[in-house]
This record gives sequence, structure tokens and C-alpha cells, in this order.
Amino acid sequence: MITLKEALIKSKEELSRLRAELEIKAKESNLNAYIGFESSGEGVPILIKDNIQVKNWTVTSGSKILQGYIAPYDATAIVNLKSKGMMAFGRANMDEFAMGSTTESSYYGVTKNPYGEERVPGGSSGGSAAAVAAGIAIAALGSDTGGSIRQPAAYCGCVGMKPTYGRVSRFGLAAYASSLDQIGPITQNVEDAAILYDAIKGYDPKDSTSAEFEIEDIANNINSDAKFTIAVIDNYISEADEEIQKAYADTVKKLAEAGHTIIHKNMQNTKYDIATYYILATAEAATNLARFDGVRYGMRAESNTVEELYYNTRTEGFGDEVKRRILLGNFVLSSGYYDAYYLKAQKVRHLIRDEFNAIFADADLILSPVAPSVAPKIGAIHDPLEMYKSDMYTIAINLAGLPAISLPVAKNKEGMPIGLQLIAKAFNEKILFDGAASMEKAVNYKSEPAAKL
Ligand code: GLN
Repeated sequence: MITLKEALIKSKEELSRLRAELEIKAKESNLNAYIGFESSGEGVPILIKDNIQVKNWTVTSGSKILQGYIAPYDATAIVNLKSKGMMAFGRANMDEFAMGSTTESSYYGVTKNPYGEERVPGGSSGGSAAAVAAGIAIAALGSDTGGSIRQPAAYCGCVGMKPTYGRVSRFGLAAYASSLDQIGPITQNVEDAAILYDAIKGYDPKDSTSAEFEIEDIANNINSDAKFTIAVIDNYISEADEEIQKAYADTVKKLAEAGHTIIHKNMQNTKYDIATYYILATAEAATNLARFDGVRYGMRAESNTVEELYYNTRTEGFGDEVKRRILLGNFVLSSGYYDAYYLKAQKVRHLIRDEFNAIFADADLILSPVAPSVAPKIGAIHDPLEMYKSDMYTIAINLAGLPAISLPVAKNKEGMPIGLQLIAKAFNEKILFDGAASMEKAVNYKSEPAAKL
């Protein structure tokens, strides 16, 4: 597949041929990465996660409850990319309302990993990552609330970037946990990620949490020779599988050989990450999903009274994982438990953020695993807590609002990709991309999925 950079200089005719080819290849593939083939605009086709609104497209967030819902307007990220020679093309599968790490919670069924079709592609942006990895999308947009761009990118051997909270408008993104959600790129390489990030970023008065200052474009002046101080969090990595620890150690060595300064740190609050995230994210989700009641959006269940309408629509429309989170979220917000759980989690969130900032007093970047294991087999995770644990390396970055990028660095013995992430200080995307470009060069790893398409 040609890169986004290469595609941007193709003629209108070449691009329309490319889109036709893509659609055929995507329909022939049995990965279930696309759940729709709508297109909007002219230009380089970018695959869009099913929770980002494109005007007149169906948008369902992977949920039955939004069946038949048509987006009335474009998300700002879509408006922005359309102004930069790109277009929205195809809807990518995802975990229902972005809650999950495997795409198994999608109403449309699981997406398969192009590196091994018995494996999950990760989630929640699993369709986006699988399609880019398999060469049936040039680049894609995903969303990341607790790792949903970086983790599927790592499981599928592609690059996934989560911008600083507030850098990319959330206007038109179906809200999961509003204080954590960000839209970002999933691409074949670091430069393409910078191109797509440049295109979608920027202040947006329609999103009250959008950062009000502009920053310069990055893709045209990425410096892969810049040297940085990179922090390695020693007590953070021991819970990852051995092969991931080895890939991590090899990468640290290569970064040092490339001239970066490696410093060693420890973090004390990481043990609270998962609990804090799953209190705050579910509380916000319970609130955000209250609007789906059969009245305004999507499906409407058979009922005789208004109460029955709410009850039946939500019972039939939401899947198990979403219901579990609504229950948990309402519990932590309920009177008597609010102080003990929700308020306390907010305080811990500050401690987590402070601890990152303390490290950034001495370092430009932090290197960390993305997930403790490679992509698991479809159906292998039965216990939701087991799934939540797979977010252990990604969610703190959302709690702290930081930018991070996941890059493939190696394969394990079974041929499954391993990704590592670089994390930067808030709004330091330039340093993040320079560091990532340098790491991409130093590691010199080329992804090649095994799937026959
Ligand atoms: N796996 C995490 C969750 O289920 C993160 C999902 C996401 O980033 N949208 O909440």
C-alpha cells in the first residue's frame, strides 16, 4: 500500500482508481475491519472509526442502539482533513462505544488481526488498525480514551498516535469519557501520523475543552536526528511478558546507540492507574450514554409507556460490556459512594499527572510498553478484569492528558507484532514526533502482515 505522503501527490483520477481498488480489496478480505463503505468528499481516502460523525453517514459507535442513526454534520476532525486533500472513506469496526480492548464487543462482530486471523486486532479502534496493517486502508482515524489508538496499533504492527487532550477537537466524536477522549491517526509510519495529526489538530470553538493556541505543523520539519533525554521507568516494565521486556531492552539499547541519553526512574502511583481510570471513565460513560433512550437517536424498542420505551430500548440496544460500565459508573456517582470513589479517583488522577510532570522535569520523553502482551486469541479473555489489566500501560497517559505514540519494534516468536510507546509532555507533539522518527530509524523494523488478501 502506498503511504499517505505518496497518496497526497496523486492526481484526482489516480485517487479515484485507488479508492475503487481499496473497496474491492476490503470487501474481499475476511477481516471484518470495515463495517461500511460510505465516502464523502474528494481526495486521499482515510478510514474513519464508527464513532466519528461524517455528515449523512450512518454512525453507530459499534452499537445496536444507534442502528439507523444518520450523522447530521461533520466532526471538526473530518472538516479539517477534508481541507487538506483527504476525504472520509469507509467506516471502521470498533468495540461498542469504544469500551473494550479487542473489538469483541462490537455489534458487528469481532475484527480479525491480519497477523493471525485467530487473534484480536486490539481495540477499541481495532478496525482502523487491522485495515491499515492489512493494506486495505492508507491511513485511518481512531479515538483513544485509555489506549484505543495505541494498543490496536501495537497489536497490528502499525503506528498510532494519541494527541494531547485538547489538541484535536472532540466535536462530532461520540462521547465515551469526555475528559479522556481524543481523536488521532493510525498509519503505516511516523511521518504519515504527523501528516494526519497536522491535518486534524487545532483550536475549535465548538469544543469547550479545545486548547486555544495554535502550534506549527510538524510533518514538514520532523528532525529524526534530534537527541533527547529519554526516561525508562524501571518498576513499570516487569509486568510485561518476557518477549516484550526483551524488545523493550533492545530498543533502549538502540536509542542509546543513536545518541539519546537514557535515564532511569521509578513511578509510585502506577498501581492505581487501572482503578482510577475505571472509576472515572465509567462515571463519565454512564452520564454520556444516558442520552440513548429510544427517543432521539437510533433504534426504538416496542413499548407501551415512556418508561418501557427507555427500559426496553436500553436493554435491547446496549451490549453486556456497555451495561456493565453504566452500572459501575452510576454506582460510583451515587450518593454515599461519590466521595469514596469518584472524588477520590479525581484526587488520585492529580497525583498521577503530578508524577508524570516530575519525570518531565528531567526528561523529554518516556519510553514504555503499550500492552503487557501481544494480541490475544479471539475469545480467550473471559474475565472483564483481565481485559482491563491489558490497559495498564496506556490509561495513565489519558488520565494525565499527555500525547503518546505507539510504534512497532519487533515480532514475538509466534510472529505477532510488539509495539512500544513514547510519551511527551502536554503539547510537546513536536518532540514526540522527532523522538518517534528517530526511534523508527534506530529500530529499523518493517511490518509485514501475514494475511492473504
Ligand atoms: N480499553 C479501554 C477501555 O475499555 C480503553 C478504550 C478506549 O481507549 N476507548 O476503556
